[in-house]
Amino acid sequence: MKNRARSEAKDAAKDESLQRRQRARLLSLLSTLLALSIAFVLLFAHQFVVGRRVLLEELRAEAAIIAANSSAALVFDDARAGQETVAAIRHTPRILAAALYRADGQLLTMHAESGFIFPVHLAEVPVTPDLPLWFPLAPAMLREPVLHETAQVGTLVLRVDFASLYWRLAEFALGMFGIAAVALALSHRLTGRLRRRIARTEEQLERFALYDQVTGLPNRRLFERELRRMSAAHRPGGPQGALLFLDIDDFKKVNDAHGHAVGDQVLAMIGGRLRAAVRGSDIMARIGGDEFAVILTEVGSPDNAANVALKLIEVLGEPFPTEPVPSHIGVSIGIAMLPDDGDSPGALLRNADMAMYVAKGQGKNGYHFFSSALDGKVRHDLALESGLRRALGAGGEGLWVAYQPKLCARTQRVLGVEALARWRTADGQTVSPAEFIPVAEHSGLIVPLGEWLLDAVCRDIARLRAGGMTMPPVAVNVSALQLLRDPEIVGNFCRTLAGHGEPAEAFEIELTESALTEARGAAALEGFRAAGFALAIDDFGTGYSSLGYLRRFQVGTLKIDQSFVRRLPGHEGDAAIVRAVIQMAEALNIAVVAEGVETRAQADFLAANGCAILQGYLFARPMDAGALAGFLSAHAGAAA
Ligand code: C2E
Ligand code: CA
Ligand code: CA
Repeated sequence: MKNRARSEAKDAAKDESLQRRQRARLLSLLSTLLALSIAFVLLFAHQFVVGRRVLLEELRAEAAIIAANSSAALVFDDARAGQETVAAIRHTPRILAAALYRADGQLLTMHAESGFIFPVHLAEVPVTPDLPLWFPLAPAMLREPVLHETAQVGTLVLRVDFASLYWRLAEFALGMFGIAAVALALSHRLTGRLRRRIARTEEQLERFALYDQVTGLPNRRLFERELRRMSAAHRPGGPQGALLFLDIDDFKKVNDAHGHAVGDQVLAMIGGRLRAAVRGSDIMARIGGDEFAVILTEVGSPDNAANVALKLIEVLGEPFPTEPVPSHIGVSIGIAMLPDDGDSPGALLRNADMAMYVAKGQGKNGYHFFSSALDGKVRHDLALESGLRRALGAGGEGLWVAYQPKLCARTQRVLGVEALARWRTADGQTVSPAEFIPVAEHSGLIVPLGEWLLDAVCRDIARLRAGGMTMPPVAVNVSALQLLRDPEIVGNFCRTLAGHGEPAEAFEIELTESALTEARGAAALEGFRAAGFALAIDDFGTGYSSLGYLRRFQVGTLKIDQSFVRRLPGHEGDAAIVRAVIQMAEALNIAVVAEGVETRAQADFLAANGCAILQGYLFARPMDAGALAGFLSAHAGAAA
């Protein structure tokens, strides 16, 4: 229904603009006609005045000639001679008849082509005013005195016809009409073309202002307008609509690999697939570089909205035909329901965007619904992000490194330490890395944070060494996203170490399994190994790394995730997994570290099953560099 209302509104707008255009056309035609008519009337009047004067002059001249020729005939009262002179009018068709009257007014003679009879006395000849303003349409009488040596000897009367003037004027008018018609037609054609061009330009401008040029979809401006209309139309308790906010995952990769022209083509294909996947009444728009949004009108329930989201994820899952290799992209979708999740287009978009952010954080190619709890979480994350940014900007203010020893299961000797980031915010609160590391990963702050941490570790090592300590190898955590975000990570790490004169061999990089399966992660891993760093796989068992990966990257150490250690030794399944991992690692000549060892029973089980290295609260909690110095000297005497 709303769809109909919208298309009706569109039609009404179209009609109105058509009417406006037609009115303008009529007006321009009328004004042209008026201008032409005025010009025509003026020209016609001018033509008339000039034509009349010329005609009168000609008639007067002819009358004067005939009168002069007739004077002798009048003086001698010779009707025959008079007849001959007036017969000269034969040659001038404008003069229909001529008569000579004697000085006493009696008719002497006459000549008429058309059988016209003059009255016998001059007094009966009708008088035509000397200079009539308007020639009568009927023939008129023109009188010319006949003189003989200044004395009037008679009167010549000519019956004259003005038809020739009228014909000339008629011809003139016809010509004028012709010219005017041709001019009008030409100008109409010309302005018609111009008008059409203007109309086309107007349409184009409208498209530019409201539609995205790459995909042809509505742009953010039009989308927000539609969203406002939709949210105003939704009644509480009525059928629900949904706003889906789509962010293409890793679109940058397509641009980087194929260039922006191909990137645009892929965007156009994305737009096409998305548009085709929703109903005609839904409004799909491109609202940012790689951001799309759709309003699902009357979707009914959140379940239906989720189904649409899954469908959109599916249609974008098909590879895009780029050369030489097809492009794979994903999409993260945030969903806000109308009208509950926002009372303005801005709030709805913000909330759907927020939900999208969470979807992205949970691994890509997924969707997430907005909720008010989410609002709180995202606000919290954003506060963390800006706090962390400030801390890193101030040289790591509030940040420090905690070290957790890894001990030999047999001898309790410290075989290494793991460096863990710590943050105390400006208001004195300690934030867990489990909380701020994901925020750092999303915002990209993980890159400067990782560099700060390595630098801080090097400074701590130098201080401990100056205090007479021998430092065991230090493990630093590097997340998969960190590898992706910083293609130069190996070079950057080596530079930092070189700056402190530390060898790469004194460090171990702890990576989760997901880093091995990503192409760029794998390249970085090769780089770390080639530079001399030892490699450890963190949280082993929670990802999907295969034995092939472990061999390929010459991983030195596996760290069994705490989740397998926690229920040891009582849990049969976990015990079996842990035993299998230890045996497999032994076969591959890979060292095994058990994480999160909290109880003596866990430690005993692990040691009995051949796990050589243990890490956990049972032995030591993560501690600052000062405490580590004490711990190291206390354990220096551990049995070898
Ligand atoms: P992780 O690499 O698995 O680190 C081990 C975590 O287990 C640490 O938590 C540590 O304090 C905790 N832990 C150690 N022994 C025990 C135990 O016996 N019982 C229990 N319940 N926990 C134990 P933490 O320091 O909170 O760090 C959490 C995660 O944050 C780390 O997990 C690591 O993935 C990440 N992280 C910490 N620092 C960094 C860093 O500098 N860079 C990166 N990329 N990630 C870091
Ligand atoms: Ca770790
Ligand atoms: Ca771990």
